[in-house]
Amino acid sequence: MVQNIIEFFKNLPPKKCAECGKQIEEQHECYETKCPQCNKL
Ligand SMILES: [Zn+2]
Repeated sequence: MVQNIIEFFKNLPPKKCAECGKQIEEQHECYETKCPQCNKL
């Protein structure tokens, strides 16, 4: 069961910015669906 959960998170696609499509680093979980650059705009 635990292995299934691990596989689930492994298969999660990386966050992508809704504006430019750039991959968002996981260290900023509180960010919305936009990368820091687009959030500043
Ligand atoms: Zn962006």
